[in-house]
Amino acid sequence: MKLKIITHPNDILRKTSARVDDINAVQKLCSDMVDTMEQEKGIGLSAVQVGDLVRIIAIHKDADKSLEDHAVMINPKIFSKSKDMEEGEEGCLSIPNCEGIVKRAKKIKVRYTDVSGLEQKTKAVGLFARVIQHEIDHLDGILFIDKTEKLTKGF
Ligand SMILES: [Zn+2]
Repeated sequence: MKLKIITHPNDILRKTSARVDDINAVQKLCSDMVDTMEQEKGIGLSAVQVGDLVRIIAIHKDADKSLEDHAVMINPKIFSKSKDMEEGEEGCLSIPNCEGIVKRAKKIKVRYTDVSGLEQKTKAVGLFARVIQHEIDHLDGILFIDKTEKLTKGF
């Protein structure tokens, strides 16, 4: 089921999301987030963007060739970041018609719980790493416009 995307400015987008303890309680939300991401043509989505302050992100399979399906990460935590940074253009479903250049770590390692409740670790490079960093920022109330060095579209 497609959910409504909350757009900036809205106070909820500035709040810190809470850890998920009960994986079963968020199954519906996870599948709705994937539906919403697909229908809105986003490459990633965080739960706060659909109004739920819990630490869940969805990443579209187009973000990385190695992904067979969309990745849903519950309680994602970056535990390693390359010093190597990369600039790239970002947009956000919550900030329509706006794009900007953001510098992010080129490679990261992330730990998370999957929808089956299993602990997972993933290495991400390039766009995949960028999308994960962007979505985890949402869980901490941070938007890409806070970090952009140059807006390339909008405002
Ligand atoms: Zn976003």
